[in-house]
Amino acid sequence: MNSSQPSTPIILITVDVEDWFQVENLRPWFPHSRWEVLPSRVESNTHRLLDLFDSFDRKVKATFFILGWIAERYPQLVRRIKQRGHEIASHGHNHLLNDQMDNKTLQEDLHKSKKLLEDISGEQVFGYRAPCFSINDAILKMIQDTGYAYDSSYNSFQRHGRYGRIETNGKRHYGIALRIDNGFFDLPVSNLQVSGQTIPWGGGGYFRLIPPWLFRAGIRRILKRENAYMFYLHPWEIDPDQPRVAEARGVPALRHYINIDKTHDRLTRLIGNFQRCEFRTCTQYLSAMVGAEFAAFQKPARLIEAEMRGSEIPILGGRLQPDF
Ligand SMILES: [Zn+2]
Repeated sequence: MNSSQPSTPIILITVDVEDWFQVENLRPWFPHSRWEVLPSRVESNTHRLLDLFDSFDRKVKATFFILGWIAERYPQLVRRIKQRGHEIASHGHNHLLNDQMDNKTLQEDLHKSKKLLEDISGEQVFGYRAPCFSINDAILKMIQDTGYAYDSSYNSFQRHGRYGRIETNGKRHYGIALRIDNGFFDLPVSNLQVSGQTIPWGGGGYFRLIPPWLFRAGIRRILKRENAYMFYLHPWEIDPDQPRVAEARGVPALRHYINIDKTHDRLTRLIGNFQRCEFRTCTQYLSAMVGAEFAAFQKPARLIEAEMRGSEIPILGGRLQPDF
């Protein structure tokens, strides 16, 4: 354990902010070209999550990895998340799988979402999470080169066909963070190790599938070992009233819909059960664990303001001033 590691266990709740029709499992029915005309539910679902997080004595501070496509259409949602004290981070722009884009398209996707979120929030965006954890070492380098301070796209469960892999051997650990390079870190999603096997325990569909008592026991085991736990979910996972795709069957349908009517209550109980922990953002965790090397990366707020001063922000062809 690193000497600077806080003694109180830390839970890092992360939310990938995307709409119900943007998920990979429903891609055959909802290609990108149809997104514009589908009924959006991301704002109301995200507000429900914000209210849920604020309903505890020990307030939850979370990290929201927001899709640029969503931020472009709902900039007020980005500002609301920030105002409620959470971290703004990037989930890329168009929710394309990173390993299926050419380098130029990927670079644009990484840059565009970061710049857009910084322009809307008025603060530096440090973190990035890839759609469907589609990551590898070359993509990780591109994320670093775009100016992010950390990535949170590595899921060590390798039996899911879309999850990527990065080299972790020889990397220095700071709690659950891995130092990838000078000033650049990875915060992997947490999984459970049982008899040498990796079992997916980070959230999403696994959180909905696994019985709550068992899921809690697994988190306790992870916390005992790591003193920190990284959890993820999506706003559409607490929305049982979202339009159903009747044709979706088999594994994709199971992944998307299983226990979706129970997730809000389960999440409420889960956070309630771990009130002895602190719920921190990724940046708060890295600042505490890594210290000076992470702090050196942070641009002073005045620099961000200077970059924004006088510039207009293009939002869907219209123009919004930075001080809206
Ligand atoms: Zn996603």
